[in-house]
Amino acid sequence: MAVFSHPEFDQHEHVAYYHDRKSGLKAIIAIHNTNLGPALGGCRMWNYQNDDEALNDVLRLSRGMTYKSAISNLKLGGGKSVIIGDPRVHKTDELLWAMGDFIESLGGRYITAEDSGTKVADIAKIGERTAHISGVVEDLETGGDPSPTTAYGVFVGLKAAAQYRLGCDSLDGVKVAIQGVGNVGFRLAKHLHDAGAQLFVTDIFGQNVERAVSELGATAVAGDEIYGLDVDVFAPCALGAIVNDESIAQIKAAVIAGAANNQLAKAQHGEILRQREILYAPDYVINAGGIIDAYYQRTGGCRDALKTHVEGIGDTLVEIFDRAGKEGRSTSEIADVIAEERFSIG
Ligand code: NAD
Repeated sequence: MAVFSHPEFDQHEHVAYYHDRKSGLKAIIAIHNTNLGPALGGCRMWNYQNDDEALNDVLRLSRGMTYKSAISNLKLGGGKSVIIGDPRVHKTDELLWAMGDFIESLGGRYITAEDSGTKVADIAKIGERTAHISGVVEDLETGGDPSPTTAYGVFVGLKAAAQYRLGCDSLDGVKVAIQGVGNVGFRLAKHLHDAGAQLFVTDIFGQNVERAVSELGATAVAGDEIYGLDVDVFAPCALGAIVNDESIAQIKAAVIAGAANNQLAKAQHGEILRQREILYAPDYVINAGGIIDAYYQRTGGCRDALKTHVEGIGDTLVEIFDRAGKEGRSTSEIADVIAEERFSIG
């Protein structure tokens, strides 16, 4: 399993493997870039089919964190960790403590947080062996859950994108289709409802749809119908890769602005959106509220400063939209360029 010649290897600074015989822990930490600060990124526990799948994930995700933190003006680098195993079967206190020892061994160059397959309580357990954790705050209303801040950031970004593309001063009467009304999507829906937007929602979990219908007066839509609705904004808040050849052919919205990670199935879909004059708010820019929150939790910054920082997502998007327009390039490409300018000179 080669690392330096791996297709997802992109000048990563450090890739570390760890095995603890007693607990059975097998884990990889990838630190992509620390020019701007220590590498912060979640710890994913997943039943990977093989080691290469785990390596692929950790290389790709750690790189993504460098871009997300840089574009969000945080003094953080990008990193990620993966634990190979089924979280429902293999997760034990001993395994999490061993993960804490692994993180500790990197001396603070990598800071962990929750991700798929790990919860705040697991990070707290890891934190019994290392101080290099984030997202565990007992005295906060949210208990460290980043979803409310992520949702607020998406709301701010969606408003900026709608204003940019539709020329509207407010979201009153603006039609928004939301795919996935879970932790982030529902909170986003609530902000939008309070701002007067008209909501259309879909979710594979019926109770989540019902909640949005009964509490926010949203209109329920079946599955894939969400793409072809005659709305102003499409907000993907469920899955990745949902901007693809099939969905783009159906999308009537002038703006795509949502929380989901890795929305573009392929990089080229950013350019296709540009050609179709659909304004795309790059996912890792608009959904950065969570990492911004984690940064403030770690550095002890006040909640007002956090709110102001998250509201900066709107300005960052406008900077990206302006530059993309001037240079005739896609917004996704310009977001990458700006992030690279920031972390390369850090
Ligand atoms: P969640 O699991 O709480 O919500 C996702 C919702 O999408 C669920 O209600 C689920 O039933 C629904 N869903 C799944 N598949 C669907 C489908 N095919 N069609 C319609 N609905 C479907 O997750 P979340 O924390 O709200 O995160 C949503 C997205 O935002 C994810 O892509 C996540 O990676 C991304 N994100 C979340 C955060 C955060 O702070 N939670 C931060 C950055 C990015």
